[in-house]
Amino acid sequence: MKKLFVKTYGCQMNAYDSARMADLLAPLGFVGTDTPESADMVILNTCHIREKAVEKVYSELGRLTQMKRAKPEMLVAVAGCVAQAEGEEMVRRAPVVDLLVGPQSYHRLPEMIARHARDHGHQLQSDFPALEKFDHLPEAVSDSGVSAFLTVQEGCDKFCTFCVVPYTRGPEHSRAPERIIAEAETLASRGAREIILLGQNVNAYRGSDAHGKDWNLERLIAGVAAIPEISRIRYTTSHPRDMDDDLIAAHGECEKLMPFLHLPVQSGSDTILAAMNRQHTAEDYLRLIERLRAARPDIGFSSDFIVGFPGESDADFEATLALVREVKFAQCFSFKYSPRPGTPAAAARKVISDAVKTTRLLTLQALLLGQQDEANLTAIGKTLAVLFEKLGREPGQLVGRTPYLQPVHVIGPKSLIGKIQNVKLEALTANSLHGAHTEGVLAESATA
Ligand code: SAM
Ligand code: SF4
Repeated sequence: MKKLFVKTYGCQMNAYDSARMADLLAPLGFVGTDTPESADMVILNTCHIREKAVEKVYSELGRLTQMKRAKPEMLVAVAGCVAQAEGEEMVRRAPVVDLLVGPQSYHRLPEMIARHARDHGHQLQSDFPALEKFDHLPEAVSDSGVSAFLTVQEGCDKFCTFCVVPYTRGPEHSRAPERIIAEAETLASRGAREIILLGQNVNAYRGSDAHGKDWNLERLIAGVAAIPEISRIRYTTSHPRDMDDDLIAAHGECEKLMPFLHLPVQSGSDTILAAMNRQHTAEDYLRLIERLRAARPDIGFSSDFIVGFPGESDADFEATLALVREVKFAQCFSFKYSPRPGTPAAAARKVISDAVKTTRLLTLQALLLGQQDEANLTAIGKTLAVLFEKLGREPGQLVGRTPYLQPVHVIGPKSLIGKIQNVKLEALTANSLHGAHTEGVLAESATA
């Protein structure tokens, strides 16, 4: 348990804000204390209205400077109007101040503390429940070893306001490229034909090799593509902000990189995207989709959506539907917003009722499901290259995937597992395609 001392200056409003800050910090393990001497963190929640307010804050900071000499790890934050008005000048005059929190950014306190801990190489202890519904990476889809996950990156520095990952999983960390390539070679020698590069923010990958050279995800993909046994490469999960030019170009240039991308957008409303701290607009996302389609015209997209984020109006939700109609997704995941204690959005006031969330989720899912069916139906009658991964439930049945990640069921010999064969797609049930395999393999994306 860490101790928090909040000194409040000014009116009732400020006292209310102090209580909110204490609530926000509880999930980071802070409990209140009555004296600054016993505190691990001190917040001075200031007010400009009273006479000599600024001088009073500086003289308190003088006392805290003394205290911090004996306790260097103590964190000092100044919140409220004085912090806002003085800005960086305050840190210059009183270097004891670690964090400045303006009245509009109290909700950012957990993020600021986490970033401060990272910058100073400290471990952030939190009591966010770990490994809950949204925190973990996807489970392996194939237990056969034909399609293998390979973790290349962990953690996240984005701090979307609804998400616990930056607190529970820590900062972005990329594994050394040589180790990843060596692991891909081992997986290939054990029968892997497809590698799925995995990370919470996989396209933020920045690895350093033994010669001190930096590798981005595009270079890593090229390294894995050089392994002869590996025929297919995918990566997940990406953030729109980290789709750089190299990676976009790779979709047009690297034959082994499959034409399907999971690119979460969360909402189509700029107001909600800003409140989520997504750091991109709906237009940015649409332009990105356009550029990826220019690089690889047949690429399919999937995404994640959250409905009922605090403050989401009917118009905001309509903007999400409009974005979906424009992109035409092949497959998607959608969730009702659920507050995660300690995340900034959990402290938001304009909550959306569960009934509205349910209605919006059903509307969105109906639209997404229609698009998924459409994408699958256009495959009927075509011949696509299918990588066979494992036996199906029916006798003699094999399960594989098209380049666009669509599951395919065919009747065929077990010896096809681990091989890529042409399949003439004939029918669609639920979200699986059915067909008959033929000899030979078309180029991965070619259709007939
Ligand atoms: N890193 C990815 C990204 O940039 O979007 C997603 C990682 S998160 C583990 C998986 C998905 O869970 C998110 O894309 C989001 O849609 C959903 N999610 C996370 N927190 C949520 C919350 N508090 N309420 C509802 N959905 C949430
Ligand atoms: Fe969470 Fe993904 Fe946002 Fe990181 S980028 S905070 S993992 S939703």
